[in-house]
Amino acid sequence: MKLVFATNNQNKLKEVQKLLPNTIKLLSLKDIGCHKEIEETGTNLLENAKIKANYITENYGYDCFADDTGLEVNFLDGRPGVYAARYAGAENNAEKNIQKLLVELNGVENRKAQFRTIIALNLKGKQYLFEGFCKGEILTKKQGKKGFGYDPIFKPNNYNSSFAEMTLVEKGKVSHRGKAVKKLIAFLFHY
Ligand code: IMP
Repeated sequence: MKLVFATNNQNKLKEVQKLLPNTIKLLSLKDIGCHKEIEETGTNLLENAKIKANYITENYGYDCFADDTGLEVNFLDGRPGVYAARYAGAENNAEKNIQKLLVELNGVENRKAQFRTIIALNLKGKQYLFEGFCKGEILTKKQGKKGFGYDPIFKPNNYNSSFAEMTLVEKGKVSHRGKAVKKLIAFLFHY
């Protein structure tokens, strides 16, 4: 079975493909000829996941799924949340976002945070939603070179390493996206 994942983020594609059984092959936006950066104009993760999935179904006719992820930091009352990609400005620069967050949390003891992912799946005219979250803390400096986004400064609870020090398999077991994708797989299996 081929399934469109409405993203061109190679890191997300690799992470999700790794979690799927060999019988499901993911197609990216590029694979279906969509080179547009779909604007995330929603005010929450649910709206953005729906916007991305619906854009592809409406314009390209494919069944597909899309994810949207936010990083909610307790001390910042849930910020950057849905705006995690543009936290340090419009251009979605991971290094600048990390530095901004480290400055905002400079000297702060309460470093609790969580990643939350919503997946919207459009399948045969219906929409299905899946959620996953991962609680952890924001480190005081970057650790590790793997992964993407905020991975070097996020350490999940009960682990001694940051996401950026984990393999794809390790991260997939505990991560927000991993948990949401597992629900998606279970749904597809019983569909
Ligand atoms: P989006 O889901 O692509 O909109 O992601 C929002 C922001 O969170 C972007 O800055 C991503 O780089 C970041 N992000 C999404 N997923 C992860 C993750 O698994 N680890 C670290 N950062 C992430």
